[in-house]
Amino acid sequence: MAAERHPRITLHLGDITTDGEVDAIVDAANKTLLGGGGVDGAIHRAAGKGLLAECRELDGCETGDAKITGGHDLPAAHVIHTVGPVWASGGDEAKQRSKDEQLASCYRRSLEVARDNGLASVAFPSISTGVYRFPVDRAAAIAVATVREGAAELGGFEEIRFWLFDQATYDDYEKALGD
Ligand code: ADP
Repeated sequence: MAAERHPRITLHLGDITTDGEVDAIVDAANKTLLGGGGVDGAIHRAAGKGLLAECRELDGCETGDAKITGGHDLPAAHVIHTVGPVWASGGDEAKQRSKDEQLASCYRRSLEVARDNGLASVAFPSISTGVYRFPVDRAAAIAVATVREGAAELGGFEEIRFWLFDQATYDDYEKALGD
């Protein structure tokens, strides 16, 4: 069905932890999955101690991979935890391309985990563009292209959202969506 092969992709400005309309929100976590700053800290604060307890059972996560838990005190029923690459500023082109691939893998693996769990709607933050310093325009192009392609290929998604925390990031995702 065409509508399922090409889900709506929508942009939202603000705090991803407030979204109770999607089946899962995605956490830009670190390899320990035991909480951190930025969006990870916000998700753990809003979800409560139950999330941390469940994350302790997961034994961490590799860069570019994704794991799922319940949403606990969050309005969304699930959290998909993924670990973005740390940007290599000053790195050579080959190194930067491998970062691109790891970032694409975060989006792809998150969608696969969502599909495996029968979820139809997922909300992503801008993975790796905070503390991990990935250039936002480059990350936005990868995020949009990977989600478009992955959702069409996997099928069954109704809506994919991006929650962007500031206007400049929102503008870069809007541009990527229009390209
Ligand atoms: P990373 O370590 O992957 O770079 P960060 O959490 O540092 O992750 O930043 C990723 C993006 O998430 C940044 O654009 C940051 O501004 C944004 N962000 C921080 N808090 C929230 C939140 N509550 N909801 C949505 N996005 C957020």
